[in-house]
Amino acid sequence: MDKCIFCEIARHNIPADIVSENDDVMAFADINPATKGHILVIPKPHSTNLFDIEEALFVKVLCLVRRIARVMPEVLGCSGVNLFHSAGETAWQEVMHFHLHIVPRYGKEELRRPFAPVPAKEAELKETASALAQKLTNK
Ligand code: AMP
Ligand code: ZN
Repeated sequence: MDKCIFCEIARHNIPADIVSENDDVMAFADINPATKGHILVIPKPHSTNLFDIEEALFVKVLCLVRRIARVMPEVLGCSGVNLFHSAGETAWQEVMHFHLHIVPRYGKEELRRPFAPVPAKEAELKETASALAQKLTNK
């Protein structure tokens, strides 16, 4: 199996522009930034994505995401941020080590929403919401 590039970054075996790290999590600059200051936050232990990351580790990732996002307006001059996570190849995931994108927004960038709002059929909303709700009561 090929080496996981983000495991290698987490172990300092390959370089990255690190923003913050501790024993559990790390944040570094995305080498193909969607906007200036685009940051990735990862857990150091390998998880693939939202489907397999352990809850406590996910919380640690989110805490670091929040800390970084909150200083971005002052440091970068952005006025908003988008958080982005792709879980699975179907959902555009390319690097198979959990990462959350923090994309600062300045208001003038050429970014598009990935989906347009289209009202659903009432029955479909009820059906999917209740199927998920039922499953969650057993978890
Ligand atoms: P995703 O499509 O969500 O899997 O995103 C993977 C992201 O990782 C992309 O935005 C890449 O630009 C970024 N990336 C890939 N290799 C590196 C690297 N060595 N250092 C920093 N970012 C990287
Ligand atoms: Zn990994």
